This record gives sequence, C-alpha cells and structure tokens, in this order.
Amino acid sequence: MSEFELMIRRQDREQIWIDRFTVEERPGMTVLEALFHVQEKIDGSLCFRYSCRGAVCGSCAMLINKVPRLACRTQVSEVKDETTDEPKDGVASIKPSEIIEGRNGILVEPLPNLSVIRDLIVDMDHFYELVDSIKPWINSDAKEKATLMEPSMQIQLEKYTNCILCATCHGACPAAARNGEYLGPAALAKAWRFHLDPRSKEKDRKELAKFINSDSGVWGCDVVYKCVAVCPKKVTPTQGILKLRGKME
Ligand code: SF4
Repeated sequence: MSEFELMIRRQDREQIWIDRFTVEERPGMTVLEALFHVQEKIDGSLCFRYSCRGAVCGSCAMLINKVPRLACRTQVSEVKDETTDEPKDGVASIKPSEIIEGRNGILVEPLPNLSVIRDLIVDMDHFYELVDSIKPWINSDAKEKATLMEPSMQIQLEKYTNCILCATCHGACPAAARNGEYLGPAALAKAWRFHLDPRSKEKDRKELAKFINSDSGVWGCDVVYKCVAVCPKKVTPTQGILKLRGKME
C-alpha cells in the first residue's frame, strides 16, 4: 500500500490555512473516501458536503488540484501525481506546484465563485437563485392528452435535463468569477433547454429571450468552454449559450 499527502484548504470565518494529512491509498479509493478517512480517523473537525457518493446528487463538488470536480467520482490514483501550472483565473489561493512539487499529493479546496461557509462547504444559495431565475415550467397548450415528441428532440433535451445542479461549471467559469450577477453556465443551459422544448409557447420563449439578452446573460459568456470541460454529466452549456445568442433579436 502506498501513501499520499492530502492537502486541504481549511477555513473558519476569516481564518484560512492548509492542513496536510498522510493517507494510505486503497485500490479504487476516491477523493471523497480520502476525506472520510481524515474526518473519521485524524481530524473530526473537517467539514465537507456529500450525499449520494455516486455522482447523482452533485453535493461533493470541490476544487481538486485546481480543477472543479466531484470528489465521489475522482479516483485518488488519477490525481495524486498531477501537477499543473495552468492559469488560476484569480480563484486559487495557492499554486499547486508550490505545494505538490516533488511530492505525492492532492490539493483540495472549496469550489470557487461561491462564498465559503466552513472548510470545503460553500454557500449554494447564490447559485440556486441564478438557476431559479429561469422559469422552471412550460405553459403547454396540452390539456388532457399527452404531447408527443420526436425521439431526436428528446435526445437533444436530455443533454440539458441531465444537469444535477452541482455548480462545478459555475466554479470553473471566468465570467462568474468576474461578475456575480452573471447567470452562469447552469442557468443558461436551463434557458436553452426551455427554449428548445417544443411544448414551450412562443410568448414564453420571447419573455425568456428578453430576460437573458444582456451582459449578465448570454452575452456575458467568454466562450472558453471550461464549463463543458468540467461538467460530470456531459451537459454542454457553452453550446446552448451560443445557440441562444443566435436567437436574440
Ligand atoms: Fe453540474 Fe454540469 Fe449542471 Fe453545471 S451543467 S451544474 S457542471 S451537471
């Protein structure tokens, strides 16, 4: 069994520090399991959020070696030897190379672009407000009978309805880092989903277009595809945003 160093950015109110823990690696171990090991065996005060442990709930999104990921689906073996000098977009507190160089380690930090409540737990309220601002229903004409939909349309919609609201994309987004008002990739992906849905009424599409036709909406995106790169559910927010831009009058 080999050991690796788990470096965790801790925060308690204004106080911020890095703790280092030596963890024994087990075959198939995830970063979430490594965090459990620390919490259960070494430091019970460590705080992090999780629920399903199976990439369904999206609760355990965090920054792992400077990349937003779900801790439950990130294998220790995949990331323990990673080093990166990628630009940090102002979200990183410490360069990984400063800590990891020459070591067998993983750096874990809270998801960027959201305020930290404690350790690795961020306040999701702002993210949920942004997503909620896109009307989450369809004013369909269908009364009693079901509305038929082409299978090809269902496949297109599914690409967006697969979102688990983990905020990983929000943590990777440079526009969200700059502008707290920016709707962000998840909300705009949802907007595209409702625009695309054949059951949506034209008047609702127009209302939605009016709402997102701004610098805090579709025009705020930098089109750098970071959200697409990190999404654990293969949602493609940038493509949706670009398609929405083409619908703006
Ligand atoms: Fe998470 Fe992807 Fe949804 Fe963003 S679009 S909240 S990364 S599932």
